[in-house]
Amino acid sequence: MTVNSEENKEQSVQQKCDNTNVGYSDLYPGRKQAPIRSWWSKLFLEEKLEQIQKTKCELNVYDCIKESPAVKLMMAALKSSGCEIDIGRHISCEVCDKAVTGGYDPQLNQIIICQNTAADKGRVQSSLVHEMIHMFDYCRYNLNLKNVDHLACTEIRAANLCHCSFLGAVTGGTASPFKIKQMHRNCVADKATRSIMAVQDVTKEEAIKSVTRVFHKCYNDLEPIGRRIRRNSEDMKKAYLEASLYGYID
Ligand SMILES: [Zn+2]
Repeated sequence: MTVNSEENKEQSVQQKCDNTNVGYSDLYPGRKQAPIRSWWSKLFLEEKLEQIQKTKCELNVYDCIKESPAVKLMMAALKSSGCEIDIGRHISCEVCDKAVTGGYDPQLNQIIICQNTAADKGRVQSSLVHEMIHMFDYCRYNLNLKNVDHLACTEIRAANLCHCSFLGAVTGGTASPFKIKQMHRNCVADKATRSIMAVQDVTKEEAIKSVTRVFHKCYNDLEPIGRRIRRNSEDMKKAYLEASLYGYID
C-alpha cells in the first residue's frame, strides 16, 4: 500500500490504527458494496465529481504506462515473470481513505490507484511503481500479506526502490555521503512502518520490530529495478535501458 505523503499523514494513519474496527476495506471503500447516497448528491454532485476524478486518474495511468520508464520496466518484469498486466483487469482507479494513495488487493490481484488522493501524474506514477513491486513480489514469491514479516519485506522494497529520494539533501549541500545513506535507510524504515500500521492491526513497536527483523535482506534486494531511484535523476531511464540485461525486456 502507498501511504499518503500529505500533511497529517501520521495522524491519519494513527487514527486508523487506533480504531480496531478499521480494516483493509475501510481504506478502500470501493472494494465493498456500492455506497449509499442521497438522491441529491447522487444526481448532482458526488457522482459527477467521482466520474471526473476517475477519468483523470485513468488517463494518468495510461500516460504513465506509455511514458514512464519505471512503470514500463515493472510491466516488462511482471510479464517476464509470468504475471502480465492487463490494464483494464489489473489496475483500478477508486475513491480511497485520505491516508493512502494506492493499494494492492492480493485476492483479486489488482492494483488500486486512489483517484481522490493520487491527483497528479507524479503521484499516480509513484503509486503504480510501488504497487507493482507488491504485485511482482506476490507473483514471484510465496508472499502471505497477513504475515507481518512478509508485509514488512515488500513494503521495505517498495519504499527503497522508488519513494525515498535523497537528491534534495545532496543538492542542498547539507548531507555527507554517510548521512545520506543513513537518511535513506531511515526513510525506508519509516515509510514501511507506517504502511504496515495502515493495513494491519499492529502497534508501532510490533511494526518496527518486524521491519528491523527483515530490513537487511529486503533493503538489499533491488529486483527488478536494480537500483534505488532518486528524484529528478536519470535513474529511471538508466534502469529501463538496463532491463534487457536482466532478461526483463526482449
Ligand atoms: Zn505498499
